Amino acid sequence: MEGLLPPIEILRSVGLKVTKNREQVLHILLGTDRPLNHHEIMEKLPKEQSWDRVTIYRALSDLEEKHILNTMLTGERVTYFELKEDLNSKKHHGHIVCDTCGRIECVEKLDNPFPKKLQGFKVQTMDITFHGICKECQD
Ligand SMILES: [Zn+2]
Ligand SMILES: [Zn+2]
Repeated sequence: MEGLLPPIEILRSVGLKVTKNREQVLHILLGTDRPLNHHEIMEKLPKEQSWDRVTIYRALSDLEEKHILNTMLTGERVTYFELKEDLNSKKHHGHIVCDTCGRIECVEKLDNPFPKKLQGFKVQTMDITFHGICKECQD
């Protein structure tokens, strides 16, 4: 796959020491198609080992400090994490947030067509979020 660096390479490129926790968190974030919260990341960690919640939190904040994560806070004050666009290969994408359960999904291909005003404007990042109620919460 084009452009997707393995976790170890990402850590090296931002000057972070390679640790089991950082590597595993990156591995999970590379393999998801939507932003994940801390609880969801804990659930996805390999079960053969035991993981410490606090250490995983610290790994996330280390990555955040190196500006390689987007963080999104939903209405329930839960933080969701995803890799920045240049690392996750989702160019120009936005998000759908359910204001009832707080779940976030990515929406891709929002760049076609861009509004007229954007002609000649070099878009580097987009920050579009649709708020509403997801299908499950409408029942
Ligand atoms: Zn919902
Ligand atoms: Zn996203």
